[in-house]
Amino acid sequence: MKKLVIATNNWGKVEEIKELLRDLPVEVLTLKDFPGLTMPEESCSTFSGNAARKAEAVASFSGEVALADDSGLEVEALNGRPGVHSARYAGENGNREANNRKLLEELKGIPPEKRNAAFKCAIAIALPEGKTRIIEEDCPGKIVETPLGEGGFGYDPLFYYEPLEATFAQISREEKNRVSHRGKALRRTRKMLEALL
Ligand code: IMP
Repeated sequence: MKKLVIATNNWGKVEEIKELLRDLPVEVLTLKDFPGLTMPEESCSTFSGNAARKAEAVASFSGEVALADDSGLEVEALNGRPGVHSARYAGENGNREANNRKLLEELKGIPPEKRNAAFKCAIAIALPEGKTRIIEEDCPGKIVETPLGEGGFGYDPLFYYEPLEATFAQISREEKNRVSHRGKALRRTRKMLEALL
């Protein structure tokens, strides 16, 4: 059976990707199967660059096909910030409250019509012989002035998705997956893997 290594230390992502690939004839491995491997820093200025870097490092170390992702929020009025720095915008990695507070602070006084934003997701599939494929998807929305909803993670309580008239923290995981940057990218990834593996 073909093997695929999921190149992330985020176990939530591992579970999500495993679920998506459930009935494909592929043995899913994780970084736990390669204890000697150190992941490269996310130091590129693009999501696709970071995803490719991680997938390529893992494919070349393991000799297997590898999949990595990178995602974040781009806000128009902030010239695309926080962008690739979304997870550590306020300093500490993954501090949701601090990141959201900083974003609202930066957008203080900006009227609703100028609060456009988009979540972006890039997924890279790297082959050990050196070919990398990239899939990119986005999801447009607006940044609200006060957080709304309890669900989701990261910037979800600030991200208003107009077609559903709700923030991503106010809708179910299934609803979010149907329309989100990551949901769309993962569905395309599955199709690509079906053809590749
Ligand atoms: P990554 O794990 O390096 O891809 O970091 C992604 C960061 O972007 C997360 O820590 C969040 O801050 C933000 N982000 C990406 N996708 C989402 C989403 O669907 N909802 C909320 N925040 C997100």
